[in-house]
Amino acid sequence: MKLNGIDYDTYFKNYPNEKGYYGNYGGRYISDDLKNAMKEITDAYFTICKSSKFISELRKIRKEFQGRPTPISYLERLSSSLGNVQIYAKREDLNHTGAHKLNHCMGEALLAKYMGKKKVIAETGAGQHGVALATAAAYFGLECDIYMGSVDIKKQAPNVARMKILGANVVEVTHGLQTLKEAVDSAFEAYSRDYKECIYCIGSVVGPHPFPMMVRDFQSVIGIESREQFLEMTGELPDAVVACVGGGSNAMGMFSGFLNDPVDIYGIEPLGRGTTLGDHAASLQYGTEGVMHGFNSIMLKDENGEPAPVYSVASGLDYPSSGPEHAFLRDSGRVKYDVIGDDDTIDAFFELSRKEGIIPAIESSHAVAYAMKLAKKMGKGSILVNLSGRGDKDMDYIIEKYGIR
Ligand SMILES: *Cc1c(COP(=O)(O)O)cnc(C)c1O
Repeated sequence: MKLNGIDYDTYFKNYPNEKGYYGNYGGRYISDDLKNAMKEITDAYFTICKSSKFISELRKIRKEFQGRPTPISYLERLSSSLGNVQIYAKREDLNHTGAHKLNHCMGEALLAKYMGKKKVIAETGAGQHGVALATAAAYFGLECDIYMGSVDIKKQAPNVARMKILGANVVEVTHGLQTLKEAVDSAFEAYSRDYKECIYCIGSVVGPHPFPMMVRDFQSVIGIESREQFLEMTGELPDAVVACVGGGSNAMGMFSGFLNDPVDIYGIEPLGRGTTLGDHAASLQYGTEGVMHGFNSIMLKDENGEPAPVYSVASGLDYPSSGPEHAFLRDSGRVKYDVIGDDDTIDAFFELSRKEGIIPAIESSHAVAYAMKLAKKMGKGSILVNLSGRGDKDMDYIIEKYGIR
């Protein structure tokens, strides 16, 4: 399929280019030390991860440890309450540890093992990426350092406990605002000091090349499975595919399976409390081009051009930028990006729970809310929504803040 001069038949050969660019976006805006480390990872990725041994070991892990393939569920009661559109969900909530994040963590940790590294390093905000990586590290017998701001450590006690039980070392970051941004800086600093012994495992399709590409490729299992399963279930492709976008890994995984198909693709960002800067985290909707965390993309900036404070009811979506490939797919017109606010999200959280017996993560509830809106607009056809994770982690917060609806 061709659109605006881009041939999606050969898309994965051309994007990213050898410098890690998707059009203007992506690249490597980092110190020389880190550039060496990134070059090492890139070389290893292209040799090791394309080897049949690596591929078959990862396939075995996906099946026997992660519980893949995850199913697609037809959401019959939800669909019929909205009209004549059939809504389906890809059940990444049924992946081991309850979300899609393990898809790339197992890939990254397996790569670490093949490269002979002893340790994996990462940052975490709400703790979801930290838990997934700690799980992967335990599985492969790797040491694991997770950098986390003091503020987040206090807020996310259950995830801190999980990481510790899994044997990870949670490193407290005490400078600045003591949240995700400082944790990223500290983790990268530790990594540049020690990159011969360890490997940095990023949490989404962000960061310097090759991370956006590598994480997309590891997450593409979602899209590949979905396309096959949907065809088998219905004999057709879905008319539309929907996923939530924080950094954008679950979305890129899903979208990559359908870029070359006549399928409408929607990436949904959190509008939070509204359109004022600071009240949302919809970077692709309201941001401008800029560099942060080692890559060029679309980001929300404050008056000094620094990453702006962002907000979302979903802690996994409150990032002031998005992966460079999303910025590119936005400009190219292949993917439509739209927003959903907190209120519609919480409604969708309860709707899916009540009508289908599935409690979704608040992040995923953004995609569900948009699918519900889109179903009413479309009137007929089918929608496949990526249910990136389960909502057990969010229940206490929802009950406390919103009560039982
Ligand atoms: C972390 C997380 C997200 C957001 O990350 P992406 O990289 O945008 O996919 C979405 N859903 C769940 C359940 C998460 O844990």
